[in-house]
Amino acid sequence: MDKIITKSQIRMAAEQAYNYATTVTGGANANYIPFLANINPDLFGMSVMLPDGTAVNLGDTQYRFGIESVSKVPTAILAMKQSGTQAVLDKIGADATGLPFNSIFAILLENDHPSTPLVNAGAISACSMIEPNGDSDGKWEAIIDNITGLCGSAPELIDELYKSESATNFNNRAITWLLKNYGRIYDDPDMSLDLYTRQCSLGITTEQLAVMAATIAAGGVNPISGKSVFESEISPKITTLIATVGFYQNSGDWLYTSGIPAKSGVGGGVLGVLPGVLGIAAFAPPLDNAGNSVKAQAAIKKFMEILGLGVLNGDRVIIKE
Ligand code: GLU
Repeated sequence: MDKIITKSQIRMAAEQAYNYATTVTGGANANYIPFLANINPDLFGMSVMLPDGTAVNLGDTQYRFGIESVSKVPTAILAMKQSGTQAVLDKIGADATGLPFNSIFAILLENDHPSTPLVNAGAISACSMIEPNGDSDGKWEAIIDNITGLCGSAPELIDELYKSESATNFNNRAITWLLKNYGRIYDDPDMSLDLYTRQCSLGITTEQLAVMAATIAAGGVNPISGKSVFESEISPKITTLIATVGFYQNSGDWLYTSGIPAKSGVGGGVLGVLPGVLGIAAFAPPLDNAGNSVKAQAAIKKFMEILGLGVLNGDRVIIKE
């Protein structure tokens, strides 16, 4: 069925959802990365971006927070751009693990496979795949250029976060070397882990993430720059990964209740993609037990509910002035 919604309905739904979510409490900042534990828990922002560049920004949408696991999305896109979608499937995989994002057990259960580029193991493996091989600076430049193209503006490294993560990432070191043992790290292991840690430490705003989400929703065309930043065939592939594992071990519950594929990070950010329709991002530091922002979830869910949208509803959504 055709479902017609207007831009003012989208704006009003965003405002209502944002206001509602300000009343939702609970959760706690991630504390296993010391820097994140000290971020002001009251920060809250939400941004919606349409493929034609129409934006709705509410609250702390200019605040640069740690992108954390949301960075797995652009780097998976970059690996697909450079090596093709089939190579990413063959070398990393596309299966949800049903286990926590940093699970070592998942690697063993998946027959030595890193599972998907959107959990720690697969993301470290994806960093090892990035070209130019063997060149840390060149790889980092490629990662940053790719994020800049997707967002229409550059992210900024939060140096203190990078130091905090590097000093405490013992579990990720174990993952990296276990994967190396299984032939799933395609460059120097320490370099690959460092690139992963650095990309997680990038500061990003909800405004930027909403542009990235809308670029994915629009088949690779950035709504701000108007540039095509990746082949349209990558959109359904990355959205599949987001839908199947974006909310860690709660991914099924999330898609079932919200109707939107979304990727979260322990910095409190969430990026949601409604293919062909819009991109959305929200940020608030307190997380639930699985590592997903409590307020960001509440806001995005409410927004979808008010508009009656859902990726699996079977509707053809038409946005009017
Ligand atoms: N840098 C974090 C880690 O590797 C990211 C985790 C996340 O956001 O899920 O543990």
